[in-house]
Amino acid sequence: MEIKILGCGTSMGVPVVTCECEVCTSNLPENRRLRASIWIQINGKSYLIDTSTDFRQQALREKINHIDAILYTHPHTDHIGGIDEIRAYNFKQKSKIPIYGHDWTLNDLKIRYSYIFSPQVNHQGGILPSLEPHLITKDQSSIKIDGLPIIPLWLRHGNEDCLGYRIKSVAYATDCNYIPSETLDQMRGLEFLILDCLRIKPHRTHLNLEQALEIIEEIKPKKAILTHLSHDFDYAVWNKKLPKNVVLAYDGIKLTTKE
Ligand SMILES: [Zn+2]
Ligand SMILES: [Zn+2]
Ligand SMILES: [Zn+2]
Repeated sequence: MEIKILGCGTSMGVPVVTCECEVCTSNLPENRRLRASIWIQINGKSYLIDTSTDFRQQALREKINHIDAILYTHPHTDHIGGIDEIRAYNFKQKSKIPIYGHDWTLNDLKIRYSYIFSPQVNHQGGILPSLEPHLITKDQSSIKIDGLPIIPLWLRHGNEDCLGYRIKSVAYATDCNYIPSETLDQMRGLEFLILDCLRIKPHRTHLNLEQALEIIEEIKPKKAILTHLSHDFDYAVWNKKLPKNVVLAYDGIKLTTKE
């Protein structure tokens, strides 16, 4: 399996528009962060977790030429804003693309993108994204896509649930400030944990560095990659301060597992 971090930035991305701080004005490529999303290639299939606001440039950069399914974490704009770009894949693949998410995501997508999910009968514009929604509920301990088992990870994101996903020995857990103990139990024995870490100071809806490191210490993945990073983190300064098995993500970083 191969995982590419398409973007590891927080909702505003880094640099932040209008910000003149040292990180936002830095020339270091690792300090330029597009909105958070990952691309998974396994068994000859291609899956996305989220279609970020920056999805178009991420897809061009990584040459993502085919998509078999999209797993959504939650409907905050930074995670869904690129949904319209799926049109190109529908056009090329000549088929609907299955999307997966919990009730908050699917309900919100239907309201915010009504032109996709309830198109007007007399729609006369260009083509629309063609998506086939699949609901993930709390009683499903595992789902299967093309025969591949995927474990939905229920995370708390402020007052809402956000979904993380575990595929074999890799887990993606973005946008959370708390992980219930039942979910932590589903995240043991990992080779790679890609985990939310917004900033240094605590935040109401995201893990800060101290909390992220506590979780890593508890579930002990072989390697942890911190993502959804704000401009608090100068890559050059912080990446070397972290424990041995922890790194800051950067856009385009590739993780490979044997299976
Ligand atoms: Zn986010
Ligand atoms: Zn800044
Ligand atoms: Zn969010």
